[in-house]
Amino acid sequence: MIPIAKPFLDDNEIKAVSEVLKSGTIAQGPKVRELEEKFARLCGTKYAVAVNSGTAALHTSLHVAGIKKNDEVVTTPFTFIATANTILMQQAKPGFVDIDEEMFNIDPEKIQERINKKTKAIVTVDLYGKLCKYDKIGKIAEDNNLIVVEDACQSVDAELNGKKAGNFGNISAFSFYGTKNITSGEGGMLTTNSEEYAENAKLFRQHGRSKMTSYEYRGLGYNYRATDISAAILLEQLKKISVITKKRIENASYLSENLGKISGIKVPDVKKDGSHVFHQYTMRVLEDFKLSRDELNEHLNKKGIGTGIYYPKPLHLLPHFKKFGYKEGDFPIAEKLSNEVISLPVHPNLTKEQLDYIINAFEELE
Ligand SMILES: *Cc1c(COP(=O)(O)O)cnc(C)c1O
Repeated sequence: MIPIAKPFLDDNEIKAVSEVLKSGTIAQGPKVRELEEKFARLCGTKYAVAVNSGTAALHTSLHVAGIKKNDEVVTTPFTFIATANTILMQQAKPGFVDIDEEMFNIDPEKIQERINKKTKAIVTVDLYGKLCKYDKIGKIAEDNNLIVVEDACQSVDAELNGKKAGNFGNISAFSFYGTKNITSGEGGMLTTNSEEYAENAKLFRQHGRSKMTSYEYRGLGYNYRATDISAAILLEQLKKISVITKKRIENASYLSENLGKISGIKVPDVKKDGSHVFHQYTMRVLEDFKLSRDELNEHLNKKGIGTGIYYPKPLHLLPHFKKFGYKEGDFPIAEKLSNEVISLPVHPNLTKEQLDYIINAFEELE
C-alpha cells in the first residue's frame, strides 16, 4: 500500500526524543522556547507561540483577536472542520463565503457582500498548501477594519511575494498533526508580529496563568501547552523542511506532467514559485472522465494506492452549521468541488517507482 501520508522521520528525531526523555524536562520547557525562536525565524515573524494542536492555535488566535459571542467571522466552507469549529468555541457565527473554482480557496470577490456590522474577522485557509489571494483579502480587511487569521495548518513554508506563510494575517495558525508537512504527531503554533497577541496567547495556553511559577490568573484559559518531547521532534523536522517542501513540489510536478494530459482530469496548479507546498495533491474528476470520482477512488485503492477526499461535505451542510440557516445551494462551487476532488500521495517519502505506479494506474484506464 502506498499511503496517502507518511511522516518524513529518521534517527535524528529518535535521538532528539531520547535526549529529552533523559533530561527530565518533558513538558513545556527549553525545547519549546527554542522551537518558538526557530519557527519565528523560518516564517520571518517577530513571535511564535507553541501550542498542542492546530485547533488550539486557531482557538487561541480567535481569542486573542477578541472574537466573542454574537460576533461574525467570515470563512470558507471548504476546509477541515476545525477552522469553523473554533469560531463556535468563541460563540461566534461563521459567515461562510464560496470558494474560487481554480484555487479551492475563499473567493475574495465574494467576501465584501458577506460583511455586516457584526463581522470582526476573516479566517482564510491556505487549502492543500496553496496561499490565498492575500493582496485582495488584505485590502478588504483594511477597508472594513477586520482582523485576518490565517489558517496556515496546511501551508508551512509556502511563499508569496517573498513572504512565508505565517505572515498573511494579523495572526496565523499552524498544525503539526501526523499527516502535516512537518509533524510531531500532534502539535501547533501561532505566529504574529504583535507583542500583545503573543503575550495573550501565552496566557491562554495555560489557564490564563502569567507564569509557571505563579498562581496569578488573568482570565480564562485552557491547557494548550506543547511539550519538549514534541518540540524536540519539530526542531529536527525544521532542519529538513526545505528538502520536504522541494520534494513535495517535485512530486506534484511529476504527477501533473503525466496526468495532466488525461481528459476529464484537472490537475492542480504546479507553478514552481513556492506559493503551493502541496500538503495535498488534489485533482478534479470531471464529467467526461471514464469513471466517476468514487469509482476512480475505489480503483486506486484496489491497486494499493492510498487516496483522500478532502473534503466530501462542505461545512455549511453539517447539522451544527446548518442551524445558522445555511442550506444546499448556498455555495455552489464548494458543493460541486466536494464531489469532484480526490487527493493522491505526494509526500516526500515516495520513490520514482511509486510515482510511476500511480501514473500507470491511470494510464491503464485509457
Ligand atoms: C489540520 C488542520 C487543522 C487542525 O489541526 P489539528 O492539529 O489537527 O488540530 C485546522 N485547519 C486545517 C486547514 C487543517 O488542515
